[in-house]
Amino acid sequence: MRLLLVEDDESLGAGIRDALARSRYLVEWVRDGALGLEALRGGGFDLAVLDLGLPRMDGMEVLRQARESGVRTPVLVLSARDTTLQRIGGLDAGADDYMVKPFDVDELLARLRVIERRHRGSVDNRVGHGELEIDTAGMSVCLRGQPVALQRREFLLLRKLLDNTGQVMSRQQLEESIYGWDGDVESNALEVHVHNLRRKLYPGLIRTVRGVGYVIDPPTGERP
Ligand code: CA
Repeated sequence: MRLLLVEDDESLGAGIRDALARSRYLVEWVRDGALGLEALRGGGFDLAVLDLGLPRMDGMEVLRQARESGVRTPVLVLSARDTTLQRIGGLDAGADDYMVKPFDVDELLARLRVIERRHRGSVDNRVGHGELEIDTAGMSVCLRGQPVALQRREFLLLRKLLDNTGQVMSRQQLEESIYGWDGDVESNALEVHVHNLRRKLYPGLIRTVRGVGYVIDPPTGERP
């Protein structure tokens, strides 16, 4: 298992590298953002651990540019900055998980295992739901085999609901997942996106739970 570590702090980096090396990872350690991006683009890594505060290029920028150039390597972001906005920003930029310093190295290892499992389980990045299939990497959706054009935010909303099938999502949770980065939400925007998804896919897909939010129920026949 090849892992890229991008961390400029010498003692923290050495601690992480040693712990990972003891746990079956082959670690390549670089100490600035530009080298991190170059390594990610070069490919060949199964996982990456990326600090945000880095010389030469901010970790968030590394992640954004890597994802833009098609890098799919799962990335766990490390940061000293613990604000909701940063958290959402990291996930929005394509991070698979997020840890705030200081952290326990055993927890880091545990989270990396979860990311690996999740990544292995969805190598083709497809999520199915009845007659609906979504490709999370290509951000495309098919209904009964026919492609359906969705706006980016409609896609993010659909994905959030499908990732939590059977659980009622509050308005706030849904708004965070589609507006996390710019934060400027028009009051009826969520309803508009839900309306569009029902129209483009099918009316019964998303169920309104009055006063709470929305839910996508498990496909018929899969209910417990
Ligand atoms: Ca740093």
